[in-house]
Amino acid sequence: MTLKLQPSRCLVFHGSELVAAPDSGDFLDGVQTDAVLEAFPPAEAEYFEVPLIDRSALVPCFYLKKKAVLPRFWRSVSARTLAANGTAGPDGYCGALPSVMAEVFRIFHIAQWLSESGFCGRCGERNTINTPSAERHCPACGRVEYPRVSPAVIVRVTNDDGRILLAHDSKFTENIYSLIAGFYEAGERLEDTVEREVFEEVGLKIKNIRYLASQSWPFPNSLMIGFAADCAGGEIRCDGVEIEDAQWFSRDSLPRLPGYGSIARFIIERWREGKD
Ligand SMILES: [Zn+2]
Repeated sequence: MTLKLQPSRCLVFHGSELVAAPDSGDFLDGVQTDAVLEAFPPAEAEYFEVPLIDRSALVPCFYLKKKAVLPRFWRSVSARTLAANGTAGPDGYCGALPSVMAEVFRIFHIAQWLSESGFCGRCGERNTINTPSAERHCPACGRVEYPRVSPAVIVRVTNDDGRILLAHDSKFTENIYSLIAGFYEAGERLEDTVEREVFEEVGLKIKNIRYLASQSWPFPNSLMIGFAADCAGGEIRCDGVEIEDAQWFSRDSLPRLPGYGSIARFIIERWREGKD
């Protein structure tokens, strides 16, 4: 299933939330374009047409400024909640995500970037948009810019007892335990990033690093690249800054996990089911 909006309807994003108007059925139905134009002054609602990844169509969308206030009876939901709740229905999955949500994530990612890249990063001239390729082009100096993507690794480490390493990050608002993750740094191989992050965050050495899956996570612009690895030794030593606690867990005693729709949950569930 692909994202299909009725004519004259568009997606509306506000921060990382998807917006619905009173007459919207599902959030993925979008909002009447006229209703958006009526509800928000032009300075608060930027309009973009984002190409589908196969270039088969342009998806109209508005990216609302932070200060925009939703009119009465309009509502919004975070895109990640929408993905986790499976609102999109059983329509085939793109890794951890229903494929239609993967498209919404992508459109959100590009709309957000278009909103932030209105001016050339080299000379400051106002950029134009090259459609249908979602590029920015500077008419003054010719610089071409592409949507910003920040690679990050996420790794499932298991030990000889068949237990999984899960950690509680200080940024988590709830008592959730998840996989070790961190951003790629320029010049590294992805395997280096995985090794470095695990050692920095919990003090363990790892071996047999292998690729599992990837997922775009546009909050704000990550590409999550998932790996598995075996513990090669050491004692858990939390860095005390990012990681507040980390422990080995068996399949039958798992703590509270990240929501469905995240690559973390996808990778943990694959391990729980004995896959890869
Ligand atoms: Zn320029």
